[in-house]
Amino acid sequence: MIIDLHMHSTASDGVYKPEALVDFVVRQMGVDVMALTDHDTVAGVAAAAKAAAGLGVRFIPGIEISSLWGSTCIHIVGLGVDIENAELLETTTSQCAKRDRRAIEIGRRLETLGYPGMFEAALKKTHTEMNISRLHFAKSLVEIGAVKNVQEAFDKYLSSGRPAYVAASWSSVAQTVELIHRVGGVAVLAHPGRYKFRNDWELDSLVEGFVEAGGEGIEVISGSQSPKFTPKCLAWAHRYHLLASTGSDFHSCDGIRPLPGTQGQLTPEMPPSILTLLA
Ligand code: AMP
Ligand code: MN
Ligand code: MN
Ligand code: MN
Repeated sequence: MIIDLHMHSTASDGVYKPEALVDFVVRQMGVDVMALTDHDTVAGVAAAAKAAAGLGVRFIPGIEISSLWGSTCIHIVGLGVDIENAELLETTTSQCAKRDRRAIEIGRRLETLGYPGMFEAALKKTHTEMNISRLHFAKSLVEIGAVKNVQEAFDKYLSSGRPAYVAASWSSVAQTVELIHRVGGVAVLAHPGRYKFRNDWELDSLVEGFVEAGGEGIEVISGSQSPKFTPKCLAWAHRYHLLASTGSDFHSCDGIRPLPGTQGQLTPEMPPSILTLLA
């Protein structure tokens, strides 16, 4: 059984429309259980669920919510959320408004750095609703030849500490976990291997804080973190009784991330799967 519980569509910064993503993931990649987890929105979920019906795949509605641990942006995946819940929809609207305000400021910073028109260029890359991502800026910077590739765009301008990085006032990790619970979902700490802290203990303390807030799962395998990180994630899962999740963090076939379902699978020796909580 191939499981992939973390993927993006055009509802955020992925390049496949929700229906096309499902088709690709199921028919070409042979995934058996999939979740759509767009950044701060569930706008693509209904269309994806409809496309999944009849294809023999188990489809799980999801979201990846930008949150704050201190001043560090942390991604929390919510699985099994009720996409019609009013509080969830209010939250996604407010998160996307924060993205919009942040993007205007990123555009201003890039203009100061000698690249005008980047807000408009990034905006053109968005699709179904106002959900603008740093990835849209990175691709726009590549297109005008300001950088060689997306990675360089992040390294030079868009990553934390770089000149076009703009902090956003996301809710705290604990608030996000509580919201996910109120809207019927389970909370999974996304790609722990990607967070940059000055000291190792700060990452341990994030995991502990996530558990204290009631978080249930952790991505022990993620297409956006090094496989070398898996043992550490498994150790946390054992220690804190977190359930295991795996996801490609697929956005497009650009080769930056593994294709859906190819990121590595959970094995019987690992802690139980987060799917045990999703009826
Ligand atoms: P945002 O959610 O707008 O803050 O943008 C974060 C998104 O940018 C991530 O979900 C990835 O899609 C992308 N991203 C972040 N860092 C990198 C990186 N170093 N290389 C490529 N893509 C990245
Ligand atoms: Mn993304
Ligand atoms: Mn993420
Ligand atoms: Mn993601």
